[in-house]
Amino acid sequence: MKYAPLANYINGNAVPTSGTTKDVISPVNGEVLSTVPLSTEAELEAAVTAAKAAFASWSTQTLRQRCDVFYRYRNLLQDNLDELSRICHEENGKTIGESKAEVLKAIELTELACSLPNLVAGETLEVSPGFDCSIQQAPLGVVSCITPFNFPIMVPHWTIPMALALGNTMIFKPSEQVPLSGARVAELLTQAGLPDGVFNVVHGDKQVVQSICNHADVEALTFVGSTPVAKTVYAQATATYKRALAMGGAKNHLIVMPDADVEHTAANVAASACGCAGQRCMAAATMVAVGEVDHIVEQVVNQSRALVPGENLGAVISADAKARIENFINEAEEQGASVLLDGRNTTVEGCENGTYVGPTVLDNVTPEMNIASAEVFGPVLSIIRTGNLDEAIELENASPYGNAAVVYTQDGQVAREFTDRASAGMIGVNVGVPVPREPFGFGGWNDSRFGVGDITGRGSIQFWTQSKKITSHWVE
Ligand code: NAD
Repeated sequence: MKYAPLANYINGNAVPTSGTTKDVISPVNGEVLSTVPLSTEAELEAAVTAAKAAFASWSTQTLRQRCDVFYRYRNLLQDNLDELSRICHEENGKTIGESKAEVLKAIELTELACSLPNLVAGETLEVSPGFDCSIQQAPLGVVSCITPFNFPIMVPHWTIPMALALGNTMIFKPSEQVPLSGARVAELLTQAGLPDGVFNVVHGDKQVVQSICNHADVEALTFVGSTPVAKTVYAQATATYKRALAMGGAKNHLIVMPDADVEHTAANVAASACGCAGQRCMAAATMVAVGEVDHIVEQVVNQSRALVPGENLGAVISADAKARIENFINEAEEQGASVLLDGRNTTVEGCENGTYVGPTVLDNVTPEMNIASAEVFGPVLSIIRTGNLDEAIELENASPYGNAAVVYTQDGQVAREFTDRASAGMIGVNVGVPVPREPFGFGGWNDSRFGVGDITGRGSIQFWTQSKKITSHWVE
């Protein structure tokens, strides 16, 4: 085993589990990296007790004092960029370059939290002669952050810096498939000066998630994961009157018009479909080819072929994921899709126990095929042919999801029509992965999100706080 067994992190201490554990296996080469605790309700209870106790003093520090911790933490992320990227690569399987990009995004998110003193300066108004009204944003209490496997560092940073800098204390439950990055984040937060008990890591699987949802002392949570689980978590958390935001899965459509720039579009579509081995909720799953675009399809295949597993294309998370993705390709082929590029049965020399799927391009996919609507979450691009922009937009609108939608065109009116009519929270015009930079918030629509608002950006200030309105009148 490459690393020591993981422990929960409660009140500033590593607390070994008394219960069961699970192996953490690297998708890169099948190596057992560590073991992760599958925590019990009692272990969660200890973490909530610590977080509740820490809230009293953390929440009464000034915003500027709390942000000082995050200035130092931001620099620690930068100083430890190489180590964090290596851990992320080992446990998730994405390339080192993709892992570095994740850490850089975490730095960007931390910087937004550092700017909070400029964003939440209060308001005061004399509302009647001698009567002043002012408004303050107060933290909620103990909150929780539950994350998926595909971004072990970036997705937790959608919530950790903001929620904590705004004065909350936290129980973090990372994905049990990629728990090592989160464990290192806890150490760095402590090194930055975060007081004990403010940030606690409770590892585990669905049992501990259910316990978090049911816990009366957890005031709010964010969840990121697949749509069926997001729905359940949202329902359970709100049933106990928590504030909840649950981000779900996706199936993103990239509309390619005949006038699109060939080289840019092809490179962009291939990168969007296969980056992070297709395991992104913003990945291009479906290219909607409008009219005569064979010349672009040909280039998409060429660009995709240039992605080499184990070199510039990472592994998928597990053997189960590899089998699931290959089954989707088999089924689509049986139903009549043309396999223009086949990533099945891929192995990487020297990493024979790794779990790789090569870049795959399927043409002539029809809306009735399972692969047209299911979230594949692998480096697989489905191409659906349509006659015109209207049909393409209808296809996009028919998807139950709504994270990203993209159009490639050189015609401003087409772009405008698409951005007006697409049913998704994040729209790209000639941009294949339209993740907004901060402070523009990240958030989808429809079955890609349950709850209100975006998970990052200015909107997250409202999510992690409650407003206190003070009316004052000083009588002489
Ligand atoms: P997942 O839903 O299997 O797991 C997410 C988290 O929920 C993990 O921490 C896991 O331990 C826990 N969990 C799993 N099953 C549970 C259950 N039955 N009850 C309670 N908790 C449970 O997701 P994943 O496979 O880790 O991640 C991939 C999914 O996440 C994809 O669907 C992807 O689209 C989605 N995702 C969405 C966004 C977004 O912003 N919309 C971002 C990243 C990933």
